[in-house]
Amino acid sequence: MTTPASSVRAFRARWIVPGDGPPIRDGVLAMAGQLIQYVGPDAGDFPAEDLGNVAILPGLVNSHTHLEFSGLEAPLGQSGMRFTDWIAAVVQHRRARDADGPVERSQAIRRGIIESLGHGVTAIGEISSGDWPTGAVSELPMEGIVFRELLGASPERIEAEHQSARTFLEFDPEAGPAPEQGSPAPVPFSPPSGWLRGLSPHAPYSVHPELLSRAVRLARTFDVPLAMHLAESPEEIELLAERRGPFVPLLESLNAWHPRAIPSGLRPMDILRVLADAPRVLVVHGNYLSDDEIDFLGANSDRMSVVFCPRTHGFFQHRRYPLARMLAAGVRIALGTDSRASTPDLSLLAEMRQVARDYSEIPPARILQMATINGARALGLDGHCGTLVVGKHANLAIVALPDGETDCYESLLASDTPVTATVYRGELIAGF
Ligand SMILES: [Zn+2]
Repeated sequence: MTTPASSVRAFRARWIVPGDGPPIRDGVLAMAGQLIQYVGPDAGDFPAEDLGNVAILPGLVNSHTHLEFSGLEAPLGQSGMRFTDWIAAVVQHRRARDADGPVERSQAIRRGIIESLGHGVTAIGEISSGDWPTGAVSELPMEGIVFRELLGASPERIEAEHQSARTFLEFDPEAGPAPEQGSPAPVPFSPPSGWLRGLSPHAPYSVHPELLSRAVRLARTFDVPLAMHLAESPEEIELLAERRGPFVPLLESLNAWHPRAIPSGLRPMDILRVLADAPRVLVVHGNYLSDDEIDFLGANSDRMSVVFCPRTHGFFQHRRYPLARMLAAGVRIALGTDSRASTPDLSLLAEMRQVARDYSEIPPARILQMATINGARALGLDGHCGTLVVGKHANLAIVALPDGETDCYESLLASDTPVTATVYRGELIAGF
């Protein structure tokens, strides 16, 4: 198929960083319609718009967030606070926000998508605690996975949560909402916005083992990814191992303490073995994984990924993240912002720069991969995005570079220059 010349658009840039090879100095990227047509040196084949001193990166992939908190101006609580105290603050915030209905939540999700576009993000792994506000977001140029959150440590919740998950996955957007007797309307979905579906059993302390097993079975049946918070805090590790510690009064206060949902001596490894039966798994955080658990994730990296959220990690002042250890074990690491309840904004570029500052032993090309192709693979979107390769979607993050002659990655990561434009499927989006 040939493309009319009028629909070809090309950019020249100081650096083009394709993500599957070295950066190209003074390169050209040409797009035909929604797709990349050429990436390489400027051979004069395309009349290119010169963008000057910028780097063109693959559109960034934010593999973990909760957009419903995007209305927050600052994180909840203070840096270094105990994780369980922060959870209590999140629950309180959510209850107050939703007291007047769902509009504020919908608007926060919309605001979060628009903010993400401004930061060069073109795909998102989003955890959704309720209905997806299709009407508020369907026209926005963004894709990703909406992971329906499953919560329920009590045996009584298992059946209802399982049914809600099944309904969520079965819903056919072409057919419209199916009438359901005595249950809430299915979550509406709009395929043109490009969002796909997954499930998120929230965490081992909030999900009954039977509900987790059922979620894994549903993920297999519907061939969708799972995302689960795991090994996030020392308090969680303590609760799983010994059923005690600060989580107990927190869960009691939420009427959600079900000690029998936590088998004695539970370890993250026990959860990883269950999750490993799903077709794709995002282990979110993994801050306190042990060496054997890291090795397990490395051995199963064909379908299991870890999502590191660097600035949220810093907010809680967790122990140093075992990033080099994970890379050595072959773990696929993606990056996420987590939500504005624990990080100041939704900039994945800021997360990359945080990694470069704190983990100077990690090669910068690997940091870029974490923010692009690794996230795309984790979410199952790598067939059409994550690298700048001919035939993939033209999803681009265009980043201003500081003046002066320096190395491409140093210019990009050791500075605080902004994303100046985002391209989604060939469409330039600027003026955020
Ligand atoms: Zn999270």
